[in-house]
Amino acid sequence: MELDDSILWHYEVLGSFSVKSSYRLVRYSTMASCSSGLSQLVSWWKWFWKISLLPKLKIFVWKACNNWFPTRVNLVSHGMKLNSLCPICNQKEETSLHALWGCSALKGVRSFSGLTVPGHVLDRLSFLEFCWLCKETKKVDFDLICVVWWRVWFRRNQLLFSNTIMPMDGIVDWAVNFLANFKEARGVEQCERAGQTKDIRWKTPTAGCVKINLDAALSVAKGVSGVGVVVRDWKGEVLASCCQRFEVCFPPLIAEVVAVLTGMRLALQLGLFPAMVESNALAVVELISAKFCS
Ligand SMILES: [Zn+2]
Repeated sequence: MELDDSILWHYEVLGSFSVKSSYRLVRYSTMASCSSGLSQLVSWWKWFWKISLLPKLKIFVWKACNNWFPTRVNLVSHGMKLNSLCPICNQKEETSLHALWGCSALKGVRSFSGLTVPGHVLDRLSFLEFCWLCKETKKVDFDLICVVWWRVWFRRNQLLFSNTIMPMDGIVDWAVNFLANFKEARGVEQCERAGQTKDIRWKTPTAGCVKINLDAALSVAKGVSGVGVVVRDWKGEVLASCCQRFEVCFPPLIAEVVAVLTGMRLALQLGLFPAMVESNALAVVELISAKFCS
C-alpha cells in the first residue's frame, strides 16, 4: 500500500502532535541540555538501581517510569478502540501515574505517605517526575511506596480481568508486611554470606541448661503462619520439638513472638529448665530483654 509523505510528531506513538508531549519534551530537553539536570537524572537511576528491593519490583517501577504500562491511555495511543478514562473512577484519563497514585479511589492508600500534591500539579507530572519528587521530599520510604504501587496495579488487574474486588484498606498493611519479610530474608541471606568470615553455627548452652531454638514463617498469599521449635540439651541432643500452623497471617514481629511463647510453653510443660531461648528476630529479643531485664 502506498501512502503520501506526511509529517509525523516523533514524541507520540501515533505521530500526532499533542500539547502534553511537547510540554514534556521541553522539560526533558531543558533537563538534558543542562548538565546539572542530566547528572541529576543519571544519579537518580544510579540511586534507584541500588535500593534494596526485589528485582521484579524495580523492573515494574522502571517500566512505569518509561510509560510502558498497558494503561488505557497507552492502549488507545496504540490504536485500540477503548475509552481512555480510568476504569476505576471513570473521571480522568488512565495514565500510569493516575492508575498507581492519582486515582480518586486511592485516596485512602495515599494518606499513609504524607505527600500532598494538588491534583492539577499531579496531572502535569510524568511518573518519573513523581518518583523524583517522592525521593526528594523524603516524606515516605521509597521502597515502601514501590510495593504499594505494585499492589495497587495488581488490584486494578484483578478487578478488570478476574472481576475480583480486593479491599483497598489492606494495601498499605500488605506492603509493610511484604517489605518486612523481604528485608528479613535479605538479612538472613547477607548473614549467610558473611558466614564465610563469621561463625554463626549453633552453639551448645551451658552445662545443665537447655536451649530453645525457634523460628516463624508466614505466607501473605495463603493467609497462614507457622512456628517451629527445637529444644536441645548442652550436649546437642534433641529433647523435644514441635510445630504449629495458624490459619492467619500474623505480622512478622507477632509471628516471632508467638514462636517464642510456643517454645517457652513446650519447655515448661516438659519441665525442661533452666532454658535459653535463641531467636533470629532481633526486635523480639530486644523487646523481651527490655521487659524482663528492666
Ligand atoms: Zn481513576
